[in-house]
Amino acid sequence: MERTLLHICCAPCSVTCIDSLREEGIEPVGFWYNPNIHPYTEYRARRDCLRSYAEQVGLTLIEQDEYGLRKFVTAVSHTLEDRCGICYAMRLETAAAYAAAHGFESFSTTLLVSPYQRHDLIRQIGESIGRKYGIAFLYRDFRVRFHEGQQRAREAGLYLQKYCGCVFSEEERYVKHRPLEKPPVQVWPKPVNPKKLARMQKAAANAAARAEHERKMAARQEPPASPLSSEE
Ligand code: SF4
Repeated sequence: MERTLLHICCAPCSVTCIDSLREEGIEPVGFWYNPNIHPYTEYRARRDCLRSYAEQVGLTLIEQDEYGLRKFVTAVSHTLEDRCGICYAMRLETAAAYAAAHGFESFSTTLLVSPYQRHDLIRQIGESIGRKYGIAFLYRDFRVRFHEGQQRAREAGLYLQKYCGCVFSEEERYVKHRPLEKPPVQVWPKPVNPKKLARMQKAAANAAARAEHERKMAARQEPPASPLSSEE
């Protein structure tokens, strides 16, 4: 049986990749190496979820357990908007090196299941790294079973992440359609809205005018002083 090292980005993505390979008669060995997942609590949640899923489905799992915040940020800092290729290469190169050093015939990745990743770029990088290490990149278009995998992951209670992995993808989740930089504003005490302030000033002026008018009307209605007091 062909020995394939399957780089795994997270448990939910691995569900149908493992099944598909097993259906082909390939028993993959899982390989965890993802220095692109931040912050640490997120990294740990995904890693631990994979540990327990591997046990559940009887998958041999190799871990290169490295929370690589600094290494990752340093590697992509010169090209933040085009960082994914570097991220794929970091992970696939480490997987290929391990596979080549441990007698595997091929390596692959669960990144190939996601319709949100740059599929063709992953394939291109995988094949190029494979040539470098003298090991085949096992390409499969796992995307056809992506939704099935997500559904099964939900049913199995696996941890489902809300963003791709790096801090930049976490930021994009929240601020994709909003400006990142805004001018400073006073938030407390809450400044009065200028329109509301104009309305309040107008109401105060109206109230003052009304009071003045009423004072004048009252003055006109006062009876004149009694003449008796001067005739006595
Ligand atoms: S968005 Fe995802 S693939 Fe791209 S750099 Fe971040 S973690 Fe890597």
